[in-house]
Amino acid sequence: MSDKAPATGTEPVKPSNFLRGIIERDLEAGTYDRRPFGGSPGDAAHHAAGQPDPARVRLRFPPEPNGYLHVGHAKSICLNFGLARDYGGVCHLRFDDTNPEKEEQEYVDAISEMVQWLGWDWNAHGVSHQFYASDYFDFMYRAAEHLIERGLAYVDEQTPEQMRANRGDFTTPGTDSPFRSRTPEQNLARFREMRDGLHADGSMVLRAKIDMASPNINLRDPAIYRIRRATHHNTGDTWCIYPMYTYAHPIEDALERITHSICTLEFEDQRPFYDWLLERLAEGGLLAHPLPRQYEFGRLNLSYVITSKRKLKQLVDEQHVSGWDDPRMPTLAGMRRRGYTPASIRKMADDSGASKTNIWLDYSVLDIALRADLEDQAKRAMAVIDPVKLKLTNYAEVFGSQAHREPCGAPFHPHHAEWGQRAFSLGPELWIEREDFAEVPPKGYFRLFPGNKVRLKYGVIIECTGCEKDADGAITAVTATVIPDTKSGTPGADSVKVKGTITWVGAHEAVACEMRLFDRLFTEAQPDAGGRDFLTVLNPKSKQVVRSYLEPALATAQPDEKFQFERHGYFVADRLDHRADTPVFNRITGLKDGWAK
Ligand code: ATP
Ligand code: MG
Repeated sequence: MSDKAPATGTEPVKPSNFLRGIIERDLEAGTYDRRPFGGSPGDAAHHAAGQPDPARVRLRFPPEPNGYLHVGHAKSICLNFGLARDYGGVCHLRFDDTNPEKEEQEYVDAISEMVQWLGWDWNAHGVSHQFYASDYFDFMYRAAEHLIERGLAYVDEQTPEQMRANRGDFTTPGTDSPFRSRTPEQNLARFREMRDGLHADGSMVLRAKIDMASPNINLRDPAIYRIRRATHHNTGDTWCIYPMYTYAHPIEDALERITHSICTLEFEDQRPFYDWLLERLAEGGLLAHPLPRQYEFGRLNLSYVITSKRKLKQLVDEQHVSGWDDPRMPTLAGMRRRGYTPASIRKMADDSGASKTNIWLDYSVLDIALRADLEDQAKRAMAVIDPVKLKLTNYAEVFGSQAHREPCGAPFHPHHAEWGQRAFSLGPELWIEREDFAEVPPKGYFRLFPGNKVRLKYGVIIECTGCEKDADGAITAVTATVIPDTKSGTPGADSVKVKGTITWVGAHEAVACEMRLFDRLFTEAQPDAGGRDFLTVLNPKSKQVVRSYLEPALATAQPDEKFQFERHGYFVADRLDHRADTPVFNRITGLKDGWAK
């Protein structure tokens, strides 16, 4: 199955994009040639003592472990790992865990698992390239002291409100903090007091000293360290000060010798600070040239989907879904459970390219990629999703007795004869789809109605004689007679012409199952657009559970196994709830695009 197919080598050549162009130019110019690598992350001295880097380029996927990965992250994962693969590089998986409050081991584990599930590997040249930003806290602290000593950082004791007011705005330059002119010695003493826990949370911050009048507000002395007493999942209570993201991220990249640091567009205005910080630390000999460079690309958004960990967490916490891996969730864990294959997600990511604008992709793009992947891989079977009984009233006359079972068969896959045949049989009572019978047929209806003939797929031709009803007038069974000598594959089977063929399952051998029919989670294409509360557009019919019947061959279906149920679409045995004695299937998607109106 595609779940096992690694993302290496076999995929077709990708269309070019501006990031590929940048990497190709760098490789041609030799920008990163003969760059030493210390074998692990480290400062300038560590790398200087290393060997020439076996990786031609280094990229990274840097999730914050504060939630599960979603389909937007898949875009970033495939982009970074894909570029590394295509250009003889290595991609690091780095947990950006500098924020102690919201990060948990559960998320770390789930993220590692899903990156691997997508087909990627951070092991290369005999080294695991899975890293934690929190392992760099010592260096980050040392770098902060270095900035202070050079007069490039100061401790600011203004209140957050004062700081905000003094930052200015797009039209007004900022105002210097009264603490900005402290000496390096004063700042160093103060910063050490911060580290040693002598000051309250939020009472002061360390700021870079750059330019309060800069047209780029991000350069108006950004905060780089704050006081926060919180237990960190990795470093415990070692620290009560934590670096800010904008300070930590460039340092993480540089310690790991990342060459191309790819991020989404909202970080564009941070790039001048990224470069300022790394240049200053390189001047001081803490970091080595060539320094990493940041490049921004547009976020991927999918219609009818939310890609914000915070909002997805809200759906989970408020129990609008069963968990992060609810098959309706756009998390990778949810999509895996729903039945999406890694190859289909990678294809969607590749096809959506990389550009300088945020893009909205129609959800159907993913389903098209999925169908293309599963068409060749999924075994075929018949399933009756909304069943009604069909009674063949002349069965004993045609086949000799009610107890006779008339064997039928069909290939597991039309193009894989080597997969063999599935066996099933006719009996006097079958399950058919409720919608395949109409007492009064609408125009153009070719299925069962009194007097009409249809073929039971892979079976015989029958003629409808009517139906049975209960006291309320609800149809409880459809009745029909078998036309003798019409079994598929036998001589003369086609002597009777019919316009309709219907699917069925023998009542004597049907596998009863719970069928979970999913629809989109939101009724609006952009659920959180314009600040709308996305909970107001939850689709109340996003999950429907019905009792269905399957062909006997499905009795041995394994969790995660995917099938094409003829005429209905693609289905998967639920990876958590499916059992041989209590089968549970999820509908992945229909055979055609059912989303278009
Ligand atoms: P969220 O807002 O959902 O928390 P995030 O960007 O804050 O997302 P991170 O864990 O920081 O989440 O993201 C890791 C990487 O994934 C970042 O480099 C980020 O730019 C990238 N990423 C996140 N969402 C998307 C998206 N929709 N399209 C492309 N890349 C994305
Ligand atoms: Mg984030």
